[in-house]
Amino acid sequence: RILVAGSANADFVVRASHIPSPGETVLGGDLSIVPGGKGANQAVAAARAGGAATAMLLALGEDASAGLLERSLGDAGVALHIVRTAEPTGAALITVADSGENAITVSPGANAALAPGDLPDLTGVAWLVMQLETPIDTVVAFARAARAQGVSVLLNVAPARAVPPALLDAVDVLVANEEELALIAGGDGSIVDRLAAVGTPIAIVTLGARGCCAWSDGAAVLQGAFGVDAIDTTAAGDTFCGTLAAALARGDALSMALRTASAAGALATTRAGAQSGIPAQREVDHLLAT
Ligand code: ADP
Repeated sequence: RILVAGSANADFVVRASHIPSPGETVLGGDLSIVPGGKGANQAVAAARAGGAATAMLLALGEDASAGLLERSLGDAGVALHIVRTAEPTGAALITVADSGENAITVSPGANAALAPGDLPDLTGVAWLVMQLETPIDTVVAFARAARAQGVSVLLNVAPARAVPPALLDAVDVLVANEEELALIAGGDGSIVDRLAAVGTPIAIVTLGARGCCAWSDGAAVLQGAFGVDAIDTTAAGDTFCGTLAAALARGDALSMALRTASAAGALATTRAGAQSGIPAQREVDHLLAT
């Protein structure tokens, strides 16, 4: 079993001609409210990838956004451990400009209430998957508890921030994009040198349309990107992480898991939205076979 512990947000998205500058009001298009949050996106990706049952620990308020997330995760087949809070469900206020640029304000809400004592029983859990949209002390406590019980830990160090060494000590697989890697391992030296400096058994950097690179057992593993017409890169990284966890959980070798995760990430960029853009296993298999 895979357990994802992390954030869930309702994304409030409005398209507009441009991102408003301070003090400016812009008239945009219709509001769409869609399920998102890095943790929930990764749980949906892991469940759609198949191969391992997926559960998620998340904190939700008592509001319409909570219902939206419960439905999206439930429809994907994710079993839920819900911590119910008095705070509202997390929200992301997203403006997307005609240029494709976006501006995002996140209100963590319930996500900020996820506490070290909320970790469920880990019996039967092979992989714990986390991100950094929930309190860092909770992430550290969960990672150490997992490590102590022989559960493998995959940490996506997103959004970008420095992390305490005690956290890296409890991580088996670290996934970062370039900006996130710079905060963990500094900006100097080659990408491979920086991956090696992270110190986790496996460290992976995703490079958008340039693919990804992993460091494992003293050697680099490269995986190119799949050629697709990208229209919305939202949740490409989340799709990569969730799919990677599912592939590793079913026992794929690292090189195969990177290939599958890259195919899923590429497909996610061909569709709008976060969870709605995450591909199903047969679509990924089809791209892998071409
Ligand atoms: P993040 O969104 O976290 O910054 P990336 O942009 O690096 O993450 O994307 C994660 C993965 O998704 C990449 O390693 C790649 O496999 C895939 N991907 C992202 N953008 C593209 C693209 N334009 N074309 C093909 N694959 C892509």
